[in-house]
Amino acid sequence: MKVVIFGPPGSGKGTYASRLVNKLGSPHISTGDLVREEIRNKTLLGKKIEKYSSSGTLVPDEIITEILKKRLASELSKGFILEGYPRTVGQAKELEKITKVDVVMNLNVPDSVIVDRLSSRLQCRTCGAIYNEKTMPPKVAGKCDKDGGELFRRVDDQPEVIRERLRVYQEASAPVIDFYRSKHLLKDIRNEDPNADPDKVVEQIVKTIKQ
Ligand code: ADP
Repeated sequence: MKVVIFGPPGSGKGTYASRLVNKLGSPHISTGDLVREEIRNKTLLGKKIEKYSSSGTLVPDEIITEILKKRLASELSKGFILEGYPRTVGQAKELEKITKVDVVMNLNVPDSVIVDRLSSRLQCRTCGAIYNEKTMPPKVAGKCDKDGGELFRRVDDQPEVIRERLRVYQEASAPVIDFYRSKHLLKDIRNEDPNADPDKVVEQIVKTIKQ
C-alpha cells in the first residue's frame, strides 16, 4: 500500500505513521527524519539544507526530491507510509512521476492544538520516536522507552519557528489538499481533541483507508 500522511506540522503525522507500520506492513518514510539524518551526519547535502530546517522554511523541491528518491530506490515494491512529502504542489507532481499513491490521509488539527503540542514535544536521538512532556511522557524522564536513547527538543520547536512553519504550511502546502482532492485520493481525518489517544486515531485512519 502507498499511503501519504498529510497535515500541518504538529498534526501527529510522524506519531501515526510510525504506528501504521505494523498495521499496514509498509515502511515509514519521513522526509523530516531524512533531512535531520543528513544534517546529523554532516554530509555535503546536510550542510546545504541545515539553514532551511532550523528556520522552519522548506528545503528546495529538487533537493528534497533527490533525498526521497534515494530512500525509495531500494524499497518501492514494499509500498510506503510517506510523511512530510509532498509539501508543495511541485513535489506532488514529482511524486506522481515516481509512483502512483493509493490514498492521502489529510489530518485536520486546529492551530492552537499544534502550538501547544509542538512546544512540549521531545524526540529520541537514536530511533526518532516521538514523545510529549504533557500528553505522552516517556517512562523515565529524558530517556526513550524503546532504546534508552537521549530525548531532545528539536531546534525548530520554538514558538517563533513554529509560527513560521505554520505560515509556510498555509502558503505552500495547503494547495496540495486541492491537488489530491481533485484526483479523488484525499480522505479527511478530524482530530480536535488535543489529548486524543494516538492509538484511537490510528484505528480511525486504518478504518478510513480500508473504506
Ligand atoms: P514538521 O513537524 O514541521 O512537519 P518535519 O520533521 O516533517 O517537520 O520537517 C522538518 C524540516 O525538514 C522542515 O521544516 C523542512 O525544512 C524540511 N523538510 C522536510 N520535508 C520537506 C519537504 N517535503 N519539502 C521541503 N522541506 C522539507
